Amino acid sequence: MTTPLPIYERLTVIGCGLIGSSMVRAARESGAARHITVADASETVLDRVRELGLADAVEADLAKAVEGADLVVFATPVLAMADVMAAVGPSLKAGATVSDVGSVKGSVSEAMQATAPAGVHIVPGHPIAGTEQSGPDAGFAELFQDRWTILTPIAARHDDAYALAVARLASFWRALGAQVEQMDERHHDLVLAVTSHLPHLIAYNIVGTAADLEEVTQAEVMKYSAGGFRDFTRIAASDPTMWRDIFVANREAVLEILGRFTEDLQALSRAIRWGEAEKLHELFTRTREIRRGVIALGQESPEPNFGRDRGKH
Ligand code: NAP
Repeated sequence: MTTPLPIYERLTVIGCGLIGSSMVRAARESGAARHITVADASETVLDRVRELGLADAVEADLAKAVEGADLVVFATPVLAMADVMAAVGPSLKAGATVSDVGSVKGSVSEAMQATAPAGVHIVPGHPIAGTEQSGPDAGFAELFQDRWTILTPIAARHDDAYALAVARLASFWRALGAQVEQMDERHHDLVLAVTSHLPHLIAYNIVGTAADLEEVTQAEVMKYSAGGFRDFTRIAASDPTMWRDIFVANREAVLEILGRFTEDLQALSRAIRWGEAEKLHELFTRTREIRRGVIALGQESPEPNFGRDRGKH
């Protein structure tokens, strides 16, 4: 069943960087929200949002920005979300839905609930879509197309009004082009630790190691970067504030997965030391299948650089 548009009369997005501005663009293009207000801590961002004409209203005062909103979405770095909730809480409309797009769910959901007023519906969310760019110019309406958005509803809420709020938010994300799934927040954090947080940590580490080597100059590292290193530099160019917050907010799950990764790396190191060619070949064959599976599920294409330039041409 398709929900008639607009799904929300008034949408407020707080934090208008890559994800926030993509939401605003997609909500506008799809007609999923009738009136869109944008708020941000940065005056430069607000000026740029005005220049780009992205929203119906642009507001520096967060509390004012949420007045009368049916859906409020926090699209700031995750550690800022508790403060944002504290700032907007008293101004939220009764019955409003408050969501977010943060890459970590357990601790963020807890922080949001701690200061939220009664009578609003908190439905945390995370679109599994992005690029290594930041800011309002980096966003584009197609970012969420055919990507997954994971909602992590609060387990303790069993009432019908809450279930309706969750279903309505899911319809909103579908109108933006996304596929929607619900998940337990702790499970989300473990899954994302494997699929996103650990790969970023490895990229930050490998680029850092290469930069610190004494025997190989930085000029050589950049000049000969095609051999795999270049892809790591793309990931390691991701926003430092956003990723600092993710590792602090998801430390438990990241440390659990990192422990497992370290054990597997030790096993790999032993296989290389003892020349266990078959063992290496068997692993590399298995990992190739995973790549094929990702492509078969429509989350990547065989062409290089898929998606990262979408909406830019
Ligand atoms: P971004 O481009 O850096 O945008 C974040 C915006 O929030 C910036 O304009 C920032 O202003 C503003 N902001 C920071 N603190 C604020 C506060 N207290 N109140 C109001 N505005 C504030 O970041 P992004 O990539 O869109 O990421 C936003 C969220 O989406 C993060 O929680 C991230 O985990 C999540 N996410 C990101 C991706 C991705 O690939 N990038 C994918 C999925 C989910 P300043 O620039 O002045 O700090």
